[in-house]
Amino acid sequence: MLSNCTKNLLNLKDLIVKSVKNFKNSVEVYAELPISEQVCPYCGTYTSKIHDYYTQPIKDIPIHFKPTTIFLKKTRYECKNCSKSFYPQNDFVAKYNRKSKRLVYYIVDQLKNNIAASTIAKNLNIDAGFISKMLPYLSITNSSLPRVLCIDEFKGNSGKFKYQVALLDGETHKIVDIIECRHKHFLCSYFKKFPKEQLDNVKYLVTDLWEPYKDIGITYFRKAKIVADHFHWARYVCNALDKIRIEVQSNLPKSERKYFKHSRYLLHTRRCKLKENRYDELENILINYSENLRIAYREKECLLDIIHSSDSAEIKKNQFTEWVKRNLESSVPQLVECAKTYQHWAYEIKNSLEVPFSNGPIEGINNKIKALKRTTFGMTKFENFKARIMLLN
Ligand SMILES: [Zn+2]
Repeated sequence: MLSNCTKNLLNLKDLIVKSVKNFKNSVEVYAELPISEQVCPYCGTYTSKIHDYYTQPIKDIPIHFKPTTIFLKKTRYECKNCSKSFYPQNDFVAKYNRKSKRLVYYIVDQLKNNIAASTIAKNLNIDAGFISKMLPYLSITNSSLPRVLCIDEFKGNSGKFKYQVALLDGETHKIVDIIECRHKHFLCSYFKKFPKEQLDNVKYLVTDLWEPYKDIGITYFRKAKIVADHFHWARYVCNALDKIRIEVQSNLPKSERKYFKHSRYLLHTRRCKLKENRYDELENILINYSENLRIAYREKECLLDIIHSSDSAEIKKNQFTEWVKRNLESSVPQLVECAKTYQHWAYEIKNSLEVPFSNGPIEGINNKIKALKRTTFGMTKFENFKARIMLLN
């Protein structure tokens, strides 16, 4: 029998450890459960009568990074009253299980990292199917909704759909839930399950300019202000500028294109963030090529200045209104197009100028999901995919 010290090291306090065999690629621990008086599960009589023994191999957490098996000698007791035999329950391994409880916890812990289930299985010398079967149980759906709810889709390619929807707490940045599909009827059937108090708990719904989200907001979140995520709406003016840039570039003779090659970076970086030694290059692009490009650049800078200024929300909202008014009458068709979109979403955009919430944190989650997809080579079963994402929290 091994000393208490070894037992503590192995953290097998409830077991009597007889011996440990340390092989090159695995570890075997021989242990047994202490004999004690038991209560018969059939009739409730106390008994210490032993019927027989049975040694069960149980997969356990790795020792020295090697897959470990505990050969647990279990005692079967016999009831003196009803003569039935039984194995007592123990804290180490659940009934009908061949993996220790702490191995199951260990697997869950491993799943919180960006590791493929197959790699975890290989390291522990267990069947990968076991982890797949575990995952749906870890795919927990939240029963409460936060004060600030951010909603955004991402390309998960899981289940039958290309896009899945992430719900995030806009204040704690924790994932609230993942929805299988961004189609309206999926979102409706998801949100209608929540009681009214939970829906009313949401005071801000942060979304991109995707009409179904707005409809969902109006239908279900009656106490919430719908906020257009400023990262998303600011992109429209950047896209307008980029369309003009590409047009200008494609019309240039080959010999001149080399002067234009950094134009994307120069035009899209905010002027205040650009290094001073790049100013000449930027000016060259703005002065020499196209009037529309010049106007679109100026309007893009103007709009971003509004978003990032430290003025009061009221001033910013007025400046935004002015911007839209001016650009609806612009001579640049791409800006007119953009201003029309902004006019349509004016209420939600103005809300975003009042509050500090955005879908920025979802981008961070998106990067983690992308990394997870690379490691796992995509996950076709939505429940498993959702479980892995929720465990990233
Ligand atoms: Zn009995």
